[in-house]
Order: sequence, then C-alpha cells, then structure tokens
Amino acid sequence: MQITQDVNGDWPTLDEWPTVEADVTCRSPGCPVEGITFRETMYRNADGVLRAHCGRCNTPNDDIVEVSGA
Ligand SMILES: [Zn+2]
Repeated sequence: MQITQDVNGDWPTLDEWPTVEADVTCRSPGCPVEGITFRETMYRNADGVLRAHCGRCNTPNDDIVEVSGA
C-alpha cells in the first residue's frame, strides 16, 4: 500500500497516518534480544515499506512480519 498526498498536496497527519501491527524480530548475533519477537504498532513508510530499528543494538530489523493493518 502506497501513501500519497491528498488533492491539496498534503500528507496525512500523524493521527491519520496508517499504522500496522507487526511482529519484529532482531537477528543481530549477540544482541540481548536476538531471536525474540515483539509485537509492535508501526507507522508505514510513504513507500509502503515497514522499517524498524532494534532498540537494543540499533541495527535495522529486516525480520518484520505484518500482522494486521491498513
Ligand atoms: Zn538487536
């Protein structure tokens, strides 16, 4: 799903921005939460792609499984 500007060229406000539930798992070797899956509410990026950073090792998470959302 792509997020686009409305007819006035405005992007959705943060309140209107689509969120999704996703299971995010850190796969960084040695990270304290390596292999542990967290259910997160995430804002979808404008290009439709979900992105996350691990809060413990600050590495981009590439294991993001969308559960539900717009
Ligand atoms: Zn990590």
